[in-house]
Amino acid sequence: MSLDRELYKRADNKCELCGSEEHLQIHTLAPQKDETLKKSLVACKTCVDQIEDPETTDANHWRCLNDSMWSEVSAVQVVAWRMLTQLRTEGWPQDLLDMLYLDEETLEWAKATGVGVEEDENAVVHRDVNGVILQAGDSVVLIKDLKVKGSSMIAKQGTAVRRISLDRDNEKYIEGKVGPTQIVIITDYVKKMSEKE
Ligand SMILES: [Zn+2]
Repeated sequence: MSLDRELYKRADNKCELCGSEEHLQIHTLAPQKDETLKKSLVACKTCVDQIEDPETTDANHWRCLNDSMWSEVSAVQVVAWRMLTQLRTEGWPQDLLDMLYLDEETLEWAKATGVGVEEDENAVVHRDVNGVILQAGDSVVLIKDLKVKGSSMIAKQGTAVRRISLDRDNEKYIEGKVGPTQIVIITDYVKKMSEKE
């Protein structure tokens, strides 16, 4: 059986990404050039166009990954990972990405085109007093008494602040609740709590 026929058979004559049965073609994932069963997939023109030209990407189209990201075909997993990474600021792609598990080899392949890498370098990274990277949803503990701006309240050293959020524009600021009050905290005054604390 020819490679093309084998791919179409695997795909059940549908786009392996969105399920469309129209304008199907074989798409070989960058950075590979040659069609192989492993590194190629069957996709519709809509999917291929958007993969090849990120400028034309319609985020809503990729809600199809909700289903197809569970494919056992690693080429499909790789496209899912790349598209979700590219679209993650939309919110829902990040949620899917959190659920998507790629084995080590597949993940390395997914990252091979540099999707997500460049963005990470320019992204605002928040670090605690020890230089540990902070992420939204983390819990931190205050390492000194802090006067809460605009109130007479003092947030005491040792206070735990759970489920922090990050200031997207300023790497020095995070937000979190102390008691009922949402406060802005400077990252130099917090220490990340480990899961167990
Ligand atoms: Zn498609």
